[in-house]
Amino acid sequence: MQNKTALIAGITGQDGAYLSKLLIDKQYQVIGVVRQNDDFSRLEYLNIRDKITFVTCDLLQLTEVKHVLKLYKPCEVYNFAAQSSVTLSIKEPYQTLNFNIMSVVNLLEAIRLVDYSIKFFQASSCEMFGAAEILPTNEMTPFKPLNPYAVSKVSAHLIVVNYRKAFNLFACNGILFHHESYVRQPDFFVKKVIRQALEIQCGMRDVLTVGNLDVARDFGYAPDYVQAMWLMLQHSMPDDYVVASNQSVLLRDIVYYVFDRLGISRDKIVHDDRLLRAAEIKKTLGDNTKIKTTLKWEYNRSFYHVLDILLEEEAKNFK
Ligand code: NAP
Repeated sequence: MQNKTALIAGITGQDGAYLSKLLIDKQYQVIGVVRQNDDFSRLEYLNIRDKITFVTCDLLQLTEVKHVLKLYKPCEVYNFAAQSSVTLSIKEPYQTLNFNIMSVVNLLEAIRLVDYSIKFFQASSCEMFGAAEILPTNEMTPFKPLNPYAVSKVSAHLIVVNYRKAFNLFACNGILFHHESYVRQPDFFVKKVIRQALEIQCGMRDVLTVGNLDVARDFGYAPDYVQAMWLMLQHSMPDDYVVASNQSVLLRDIVYYVFDRLGISRDKIVHDDRLLRAAEIKKTLGDNTKIKTTLKWEYNRSFYHVLDILLEEEAKNFK
């Protein structure tokens, strides 16, 4: 039997790396779309770099995307490629909007033109709900984006829905709530807190500098979330699903938990107003009922359990 081929755009990021691992374990042939000078450290950390075929492709060029689909004939395409930082999107709205929207248009258009039986997954974001008035948010909640990253994700999300309805493509959006792992980008909150707390513990750093800790987020564990993404493309019908833990944790409680676990005084937490955001979402909480019931996705971790895993892995690799 021939193995399935999956193409992953944004393979070098956290989700690209964990999804690649999952697909390789399932005997897929994995094709990774990269740009110039990529950082392969996550794929190396998971010991899968040499099991992946890499192809350089500018996702903003439709002809290049079509060429890659014709060459590798994937049956599934997963799109993680995005400028994924809210903070950077506020500083660089043009690049964020241009890339995060037009890359998705090109992927969908290439699928439509080359082989419309290819199944497509798009990484949407809970940031799209922004100033939602009613929690938990689910697939029916209206989008109220508060920053350029969120606006870009709403546009990409809607174009996926449009191609599904207008052209009958098997195209799905995973509305992803925050999910963490050891290979998370270093400037994201949980990774930063754990890493810097370890540095304080061993005398390499004096304090942890934070913005507003009185906001709450629905956080989960990345290796489990990529399973949800894969399940979406195995179902008989394409659809959009919230992927969330259904629990919300205050950022303050995360810092206190990590500091307590490492025996660090709370006096070492320093507030810096420059880290505050003008339009901050107070709380996110996702309703994962649809994906649990329809796709039988299993997720029951408490985020404190995830923090234990992350603390252990970070300490093991700490240099
Ligand atoms: P990530 O670690 O930031 O990875 C982003 C990937 O996109 C990297 O492979 C990066 O490649 C690529 N990329 C960025 N800008 C690009 C550009 N201009 N051209 C081509 N490639 C580009 O993100 P992640 O945490 O894995 O998240 C995966 C996706 O899920 C993203 O779309 C993100 O917005 C979305 N999402 C994530 C979360 C979360 O909690 N992780 C929550 C909601 C939604 P380089 O290595 O070359 O930079």
